Amino acid sequence: MAVSMQFTLTFTAALPSYNLYRYYGRAASSSVDFSGTNTYLVGQSNPYILVDTGEGRDEYSHVLEDALKDLSIDIHTTEADISDIILTHRHGDHIGGLPSVLSLLRRRWAERHPDSRPFPAPRIHKIPFSHPQLGTLLDSLPPDSFAPDASGKRLHDLREGQTFKITSAEPSNSNDSEYSLEVIHTPGHTPDSICLYLPADRALFTADTILGHGSTVFEDLAAYMASLRKIIDFGSSDGSGEQKYDILYPGHGPSVSHTHVAMYLRHRVDRENQVLKVLSSSPPSGDHWTAWTIVKDIYADYPQSLWEPAARSVDLHLRKLEGEGRIQRAGGEGHHTGWEFVE
Ligand SMILES: [Zn+2]
Repeated sequence: MAVSMQFTLTFTAALPSYNLYRYYGRAASSSVDFSGTNTYLVGQSNPYILVDTGEGRDEYSHVLEDALKDLSIDIHTTEADISDIILTHRHGDHIGGLPSVLSLLRRRWAERHPDSRPFPAPRIHKIPFSHPQLGTLLDSLPPDSFAPDASGKRLHDLREGQTFKITSAEPSNSNDSEYSLEVIHTPGHTPDSICLYLPADRALFTADTILGHGSTVFEDLAAYMASLRKIIDFGSSDGSGEQKYDILYPGHGPSVSHTHVAMYLRHRVDRENQVLKVLSSSPPSGDHWTAWTIVKDIYADYPQSLWEPAARSVDLHLRKLEGEGRIQRAGGEGHHTGWEFVE
């Protein structure tokens, strides 16, 4: 049984974050250790695009450095290691590695260019959404370690449909639109969550919107379900009837089949139907159903320790139904708010 808990992914500082996928073309390689945050170095040679930075553990810098030094690829000495860092959302286990990644890039550039050639500082991109944790992190970065946008803002605003060219090992591919990452805004897990589509690899990077293991959490269920529908529609939108992506590269856990998106949506729809079914039966006290009494009904056979997280999940469903004008509050507070159908 999957019980969704809100905010559990916000701080996972105790976990390693050195799972690194590198895009080499259609043959993808990825780490076997999936206990931390996945980051993705995308491109067939430098300058690469780095998707997320982990939470900032020392081991990660070493793994990233080894990947950047990999002798099996040609390093373009006059080019940056990484030109762009794309942050999939604001959570600490995805952005916390920024300071160490930026200092690694600076150090490597200085080592590679003892002639003190100016450092090509990377751009950092994110869907605009301010948050104190992010502000504090950005304040801690040396100003010359990254390139602000044209107006001087530290982060470059990502927008829906924006594309990033990725480096191809074949110069003849350099104008091929397949060699690009496309931004899809998928709010729900957080308001600023994105997925990234890589046509050349038939892949979708899903960050925390779809995970490789466990079940994800969300701040806004209505937005989250709409985002799942959006990426399902996106996958089948080329008119040929062929699915545009087959594989999902998540923020945590191993890569999984694209069918996980529909599976996640099905799970939420089933839970919503379960909640609606309970709401239409007579409440136990003869009054109104609450998140708590709904959980006691649905989870009667499960340990009571699961009821609290389950109540948070049910509460998100109740708030979604309220937002849709299908149910309304009838007194009480928190998990004990009574709910009734809107006539
Ligand atoms: Zn997250």
